[in-house]
Amino acid sequence: MSSNTDFALAIEDLTVSFDGFKAVDNLSLYIDKDELRVVIGPNGAGKTTLLDLICGKTKSTSGSIKFKNKELSKLSEHQIVHAGVGRKFQTPSIYENLSVYDNLEVSYPEGRTVFGALAFKRTDKVDARIKEIANEVFLGDFLSMEAALLSHGQKQWLEIGMLLIQDPELLMLDEPVAGMSVREREQTAELLNRISKGRSVLVIEHDMEFVARIAHKVTVLHQGKILAEGDMKTVQNNPDVIEVYLGH
Ligand code: ADP
Ligand code: MG
Repeated sequence: MSSNTDFALAIEDLTVSFDGFKAVDNLSLYIDKDELRVVIGPNGAGKTTLLDLICGKTKSTSGSIKFKNKELSKLSEHQIVHAGVGRKFQTPSIYENLSVYDNLEVSYPEGRTVFGALAFKRTDKVDARIKEIANEVFLGDFLSMEAALLSHGQKQWLEIGMLLIQDPELLMLDEPVAGMSVREREQTAELLNRISKGRSVLVIEHDMEFVARIAHKVTVLHQGKILAEGDMKTVQNNPDVIEVYLGH
């Protein structure tokens, strides 16, 4: 018999209320290790708020968020990162004036900070890791390029790389292919399929063609609640889901 302790992420009865409005409403969600879950839903459904709650940016009103059986809801954002949770926001937050290489270096755990290299000695191990990650996110040929000069898609990949270099066990991405070209979307699908091996990935996305390429399971959120959950086909054929999407 499986229990809730077998999941990488177990969210139970999670609620956040903003002045009485429940953006996330008594939600329970379970994600396995090695699972890539996609959360979809109309604007305002509570998708971004859900990620805010998991990463500690927003504190819940009630409920529980367990990651590898550790309660996250009382931890600080920093402690949650330390517990192995990485989160990418909708707009890339990279250091525009630093090179791709330096962006990855400052993201290396216990790496040097943007403010100085005094305490940090760059080792061959760090250098190799930076190059490995750059290759993983299609930026192996752009190591010395200033991040400001990257395309929008490449900036998104760089930020994914900056998370990957910390080797998170749960990686959360909010609309990672927004603004990407068709080719970049295909590459990102391949990237996400690759990096979901050995960790859990939680992706929020609108682009259904992209969702079909990556999702193991899809969760449909509507008004802070789960409307449907299952494989892509099941969810797409669910009358409630059709109603919510076509009714707008
Ligand atoms: P989604 O990402 O699914 O489009 P959000 O999670 O951003 O939706 O927002 C869900 C709802 O919660 C929206 O109605 C939004 O206005 C509201 N909301 C989100 N964050 C806050 C906040 N900090 N204070 C008040 N209302 C919020
Ligand atoms: Mg959102």
